[in-house]
Amino acid sequence: SDLIRPDADPNERAAESALRPTSLAEFEGQPRVSDQLGLVLEAARHREATADHVLLSGPPGLGKTTLAMIIAAEMAAPIRISSGPAIQHAGDLAAILSGLVEGEVFFLDEIHRMSRPAEEMLYLAMEDFRVDVVVGKGPGATAIPIEIPPFTLVGATTRAGLLPGPLRDRFGFTAQLDFYDTTALEHILTRSAGLLGARLRAEGAAEIARRSRGTPRIANRLLRRVRDYAQVRADGVITRAVAARALELYEVDEIGLDRLDRAVLDAVCRRFGGGPVGLSTIAVSVGEERETVEEVAEPFLVRKGYLMRTPRGRVATPAAWRHLGLAPPAGSSS
Ligand code: ADP
Repeated sequence: SDLIRPDADPNERAAESALRPTSLAEFEGQPRVSDQLGLVLEAARHREATADHVLLSGPPGLGKTTLAMIIAAEMAAPIRISSGPAIQHAGDLAAILSGLVEGEVFFLDEIHRMSRPAEEMLYLAMEDFRVDVVVGKGPGATAIPIEIPPFTLVGATTRAGLLPGPLRDRFGFTAQLDFYDTTALEHILTRSAGLLGARLRAEGAAEIARRSRGTPRIANRLLRRVRDYAQVRADGVITRAVAARALELYEVDEIGLDRLDRAVLDAVCRRFGGGPVGLSTIAVSVGEERETVEEVAEPFLVRKGYLMRTPRGRVATPAAWRHLGLAPPAGSSS
């Protein structure tokens, strides 16, 4: 699953940044989000005001960070980037907020993983553009209010449902990013190939798109690996056959499941008889963090109809058994 993880090595991240679209017009594949967000930003520019706070939700790699950067670019504003887990204390947040300039975009990734005190500080900042900094301890402690300039918070989370209601309510605009269809991924791959100087045939793009789990980050990563393969083991041209051979080598199967996805299905089917089985048990069984299984592998498996979430745990569908080359247990419907 290093194909999808955002925390891959710095080289991956640099390569990824080079492929980011920089304007809404270039941001393909989420037409509804682009339209709505375009309107929000245009209205703000019209009023010469700072844009409303924006909440972006969706699985990793669908373009949340990219959109935050686009928002800043479209508003001709600087951007400051941080993440929930990086903010341990409310003081960390106060330091960031009080350093913002007017109109700045503050991108807060994994906003659902912020500490409680930081979250409460954020409420006030979002609403009143003010933070209360507590000075001293015990009975002598006093809260000193500090004004902060109007800014646009862009929060990102894998699932909007993870956020407490009061926080969600403070965003003026909320967008849910969804998996991309293969046509959009083909366009993205074609654009990326142009930037990389890779020779990508239309059928090669289709083959990579089909195995990219509806995710631009994965599409771009697969493209770079397929390009390597094409250069070393073929004549440099990415045809359908070259793409298919390369992806087999990298253990990405015909429908885009990688090793972690298959390990999860394998655990549910072979070890737990198809379920229901709890997420933590699955995570231990595949040697991964619960969060990685839940946020990286599961959404796509559910979306593909291989895994079901039930109140008693995860259940493999007959399609999952068949994908592993196993017969679904008797009694399960197909
Ligand atoms: P997230 O923040 O949701 O995890 P990112 O914004 O970091 O995802 O996107 C991952 C990569 O995918 C980016 O580097 C970018 O190159 C590419 N990408 C994402 N969305 C698009 C899009 N709509 N068009 C083209 N490339 C995209």
